[in-house]
Formats: sequence, structure tokens, C-alpha cells
Amino acid sequence: MAINSLLIMAQQMGNQPMIVLSEDSQRTSGKDAQSMNITAGKAVAESVRTTLGPKGMDKMLVDSTGNVVVTNDGVTILKEMDIEHPAANMIVEVAETQEDEVGDGTTSAVVVSGELLKEAEDLLDQDIHATTLAQGYRQAAEKAKEIVKDIAIDVSADDTETLESIAATAMTGKGAENAKDHLAKLVVQAVSAVADGDEVDTDNIKVEKVVGSAVDESELIEGVLIDKDRVHENMPYFVEDANVAVIDDALEVKETEIDAEVNVTDPDQLQEFLDQEEAQLREMVDDLVEAGTDVAFVEDGIDDMAQHYLAQEGILAVRRVKSSDAEKLARSTGARVISNVSDIEADDLGFAGSVSQQEVAGSQQILVEDVEDAKSVTLLLRGGTEHVVDEVERAIEDSLGVVSVTLEDGKVLPGGGAPETELALELRQFADSVGGREQLAVEAFADALEVGPRTLAENAGLDPIDSLVNLRSEHDSGNSTAGLDAYTGDVIDMEAEGVVEPLRVKTQAIESATEAAVMILRIDDVIAAGDLKGGGTDDDDDEPAGGPGGAPGGMGGMGGMGGMGGAM
Ligand code: ADP
Ligand code: MG
Repeated sequence: MAINSLLIMAQQMGNQPMIVLSEDSQRTSGKDAQSMNITAGKAVAESVRTTLGPKGMDKMLVDSTGNVVVTNDGVTILKEMDIEHPAANMIVEVAETQEDEVGDGTTSAVVVSGELLKEAEDLLDQDIHATTLAQGYRQAAEKAKEIVKDIAIDVSADDTETLESIAATAMTGKGAENAKDHLAKLVVQAVSAVADGDEVDTDNIKVEKVVGSAVDESELIEGVLIDKDRVHENMPYFVEDANVAVIDDALEVKETEIDAEVNVTDPDQLQEFLDQEEAQLREMVDDLVEAGTDVAFVEDGIDDMAQHYLAQEGILAVRRVKSSDAEKLARSTGARVISNVSDIEADDLGFAGSVSQQEVAGSQQILVEDVEDAKSVTLLLRGGTEHVVDEVERAIEDSLGVVSVTLEDGKVLPGGGAPETELALELRQFADSVGGREQLAVEAFADALEVGPRTLAENAGLDPIDSLVNLRSEHDSGNSTAGLDAYTGDVIDMEAEGVVEPLRVKTQAIESATEAAVMILRIDDVIAAGDLKGGGTDDDDDEPAGGPGGAPGGMGGMGGMGGMGGAM
């Protein structure tokens, strides 16, 4: 549909309103628009609610081609659900931002966002203006970020125990649960190995999945694992103290750009031509030898003749190395990536104590170990089935995220609903100082945050009211680290228990959940080019899009999705 058909000019011409809007487009305004968007947002939050916390359940998602994903990870669920409603998508973005910024806390962020919308609905019904609400929510969010910063606990980069607790907390309730102590150690080792001061680039951690054997047999390889074999059988299997060349080029004779025709008039000429090619290949290998190369990783191809010469020289060479792997090799061995073999010099080479071809996970792979600066590591994840390894990988990714973020920020918070309870308490006090109608919004914000501990309790089969009452009374008496032990139902000191999360998980969740809720609340007009579809109503395109009737049709899809959340 042409964009300009969307132009609305509700001009008054005399008494005749003139609306320039395409026939297929649909418009919902005022309270209808607000409540449609709120319902959509809440439905999204509802769909992931049951997965929250250590006792949260998993979801099985089946796409149109029959692929199955079993997961507990909020952002994965929302991405796989293929949500179409625009307001619902704003909530999905909350999860995506959370994933990008911290890697964990996606479910919590979405659940809080949904609850902010729910609380707002009540206030809107009491005729509090959406703008007032938005202002109150923003004020509350700012204050909340200050409060969590105040109660955050410092953690230093060499506090391995706390880092392992953080790594383990992020994996609680996921497929990785039963091996989480072992995996937490690997995660902390991996992140520490690639950390450069307080900067961590998790791209330097390669996660390789292997189906077979148990999750707790997963291991960390200091160095890089390349899923390739050496290019020629006469090359060595193992090279000790290797000078490593990383080449973004081919060891082949370059074809001429223009299709040249070579007319050979006598056999000598042909021989000369072939000799010349061979000489060129020989020269490339000689260049490598002169620089002192023991192992060569080549991103492009290696000519048969060159392979033969390399093998003669005792060089282990690998071809068609992925450029992401080449980068990792360069970083870990200290090599410089060469784009032209003839330029290679001794200081372009990196160093590895050992380069070997081994059978890893059922295939021949090249393992580069004992590297000069282990700025690159490989986490070899094992698990009984593909679905298991995939879910372990997602848990590990959350875990790598939180440990990196902690190294960067040096601040953590207790988990188990402790910060949410503390925030609710302090925000209610803060509300008194706000005054006006915004005060009600700040109070609503405080109530909304308690959805965290409430949901943890519900998912653990505990009484949410009792749990909240116990939590509040502990926090009232000054125990800001008191949280809910989802296994026993007791309120305990989460810091002592080792249930800790990075500060950024909470600040980011507060920020994006508030932004999304505020954005949705401020909308009083939805103009859609065509039918506003919810999930699963793809085939009703040709139904007449009848004014307000169309919108609830869209909502029907969303309602169905919420129902799916409840059913799983
Ligand atoms: P998210 O996608 O938000 O990270 P999770 O399913 O990972 O969702 O649940 C995170 C919540 O579970 C956090 O509030 C965290 O504090 C809590 N949690 C994690 N481990 C425990 C535990 N052992 N006891 C109580 N709560 C826990
Ligand atoms: Mg988590």
C-alpha cells in the first residue's frame, strides 16, 4: 500500500469532516487504542511468565516447518513466537535490548513491562491522564535506578567465588541446571581468559556444541578449535612450538583477470607454462619457509602442488578457514593476518605451544593450544541430545553475558526478588514526596515491580501473598538482601546463599521496561495500513476491515497467544 494513502487530514470543511485514508486502512483511537495496545502488551508478558525463576517451566515451540525448540529463555521464546501485533512487538524489543545489553533477565524485563501496563490500566480507568502516568513512571524509574545502585555490592575481578555464583545464578532453572557448578567454573575461566582489563569481548569465546556424552563433561579449551583437517596426508599431525601464519589469501596461481588465450605451438612451450606456474607456487611456499612458518591457516584454497611442497617442508597447513576463526587464531597466537603471501615476514607469525590434529567430538579438528596470549578460548559443550545442547548453549550465553558485565561494572545485586522488594518499599516512601497525581503512578510502579517475587513464588508453587508478606517484613527490618528461596519457600539472605546477579541486569530491565510501557501508554491513535493482525490470523486478509470491529479481531490473535502461555 502506498504510504501517502495513510495521510490523514481530518479537515473540517464546513461541517463535513474529510478523511483522506485508504479504504483498507484501519484506525483505532482514544481509549480503544489504549486498551488494545495494553492488552497486547500484557499478553506478551503473560506468555513468558511461567518460565521465570529456578522453578519456571520450559516451552516447546514448533515453527511452520516442524522445527522444535524447547527453552526457558524469555527472548528465545518471544523471537520464535513470530508476534505481529505492533504494541506486542514493543514488548518483545524489551527482551531483545536486554539480551543485547546484558544477556540475562529477559523474562523479568518483559514481565515487569506487562505489569506496568496492567497497573496503568487501573489508573487510566480512574481518569488519570496517560501523560501524568508516563511522567510518574519515568520519575519512579530514575529513583529506582538510584536505589539499586545504593544497595549494590562491589565485586572485584579476582573474586572467583562470587563470579562463579553469578554464572550459576544465570543458569538456574535452565537445561544446564544439573551441571551448573561445573559450567559456572568454565564460564568464569573463559571470561577471565579473554578479559582485557575490565573490557570483555565475548566474541573471543567460541562455543562449540557436541552431541553425545553428558553436560558435565563439557570442557574449556584454552586456545582455538578449528573444525577442519590438515590439507595433505604427508603433513604432520602435531607441531610443537609452532610459528603460526594466518593468511587471508589463496596459495594458488592467480587466474588472469582477462580471459587470455594461450596458443601453444610446440610441447616445450606448454612445459614452460606449467613450469612457470609451479615456480610461482614454489615461491609462495619458499616465502612461508623463509619467514619461519611451521603452521599455516589459509582462508582460501591451497593448490595441490603447493600442498605437496608444504608437506615436503613439514608445514601443517589448513585451508578454507572461516574468517571468524582466522581472526580468533590471529588474536590468540598474536599473528597478523596477511593478505598477500609474498609479503610475509617473521614478525607476522604468531606462536602456539602446540598445534595438533585430533578427533574431537567425532570429527578431525585442529586444536591450537598453549597460545602466547590466550585471548581466545573454546567452550566445548556436550549434551545427550541436540535439544539439550542447544538449551545448554542458551543458558551458557546468558551466563557468559552476566559474568562479562560484572567484570565491566564490578557491581552485583542479590537475586530471588530481593531488589524488587526493596525497591517497592523505598519507592512507596518516595511517592509521598512526589505528590500530585504522579504519586499514584509512582505507587503503581512500586506495585508493578513486586511482580518479580510474586511470580517466583507462584512458579515455585508457593503462596504468593505469604511470600510477599514475609519478604516485605524482612526488608522493613532492614535486610535488603532478603530474597525468596524458590526451593524451600523460606526468605533467606540471598547474598550469603550465593544467588547474585549483575547490577546492570536490573538497571537495564527497569529502563527498557519503563520506556516500552510509557511508549505504549502515550499512544492514543493507531492507524494501520490494512488489517491489524494478531498472531495466527494470517489468512483473514480478505475479510472486510471494519472500523472498530477489526481491532478486536486482531486482539483475538493476541488473546490466543496469552492462552498458549497459560496452557504450557
Ligand atoms: P530471566 O530471563 O529474567 O533471567 P530467569 O528464568 O532466569 O529469567 O529467572 C530469573 C529470576 O530468578 C531472577 O529474579 C533471579 O533472582 C531468580 N533466581 C535465580 N536463582 C534463584 C534461586 N536459587 N533462588 C531464588 N531465585 C532465584
Ligand atoms: Mg536468567
